[in-house]
Amino acid sequence: MAAFQTHVTVGLVVGYIAGLFAVVTQWIVAPFMPLCMFAAAFIGAFLPDLDSNYSKPFNIVFSHAAIIGGSAVFFYFTLQKTIPWFYWGIIPPVSALVIRYGIGKIFQKFTTHRGIFHSIPGIFIATLATPPVLSFIPLASKDVAAISMSVGIGFLSHLVLDEICSIFDFKGFKTKIKVKRSFGTAMTFTCPSAAVTLAAYFLLAVLIFYNRQLLIEVFPGLNVHF
Ligand SMILES: [Zn+2]
Repeated sequence: MAAFQTHVTVGLVVGYIAGLFAVVTQWIVAPFMPLCMFAAAFIGAFLPDLDSNYSKPFNIVFSHAAIIGGSAVFFYFTLQKTIPWFYWGIIPPVSALVIRYGIGKIFQKFTTHRGIFHSIPGIFIATLATPPVLSFIPLASKDVAAISMSVGIGFLSHLVLDEICSIFDFKGFKTKIKVKRSFGTAMTFTCPSAAVTLAAYFLLAVLIFYNRQLLIEVFPGLNVHF
């Protein structure tokens, strides 16, 4: 398992290369897209370790989700004029705490490190889950695809790096080759739990169906198969 900083650095490098490639091939539409791709690959690169309880990625994602969730409730209240004052004081912070410690705890309970988050279907789930997240921002299909693929590339870089680190032991300038037990647990098609594997493939099928229009638009050759 590589360190958080290593994953993030590699994610930023692949994000930069992806952005550069999109500019050179004139794939993207909006001028700020390379920056978005850079950020997307960064997020993708730390996303797999979300399953590691108490890890930095887990804390980053759930703390931000709690702040955003609490703020969303507060914003919703500002639109409703007749809400009593104590609701304002209690419900937004409680919502934030529920997200951080309630949903966060449930998430920790149902995920195991190096489980489905460290797998090849995991890459496609992360990639295809990005368009629904971006659905309320008006973006061209090609730009949505560019951001989504950047998340996928960042995710892939994480798994490749985990596999490399399970063979090579990097210590300063000395590199030892030592195959660890974790070798082969990142680049897999399944996870130890059959039920979780099945649920992941089901989710993947749902996401392919959800994104069918975008997939056809971006890759017109696929039209024959849908
Ligand atoms: Zn990992």
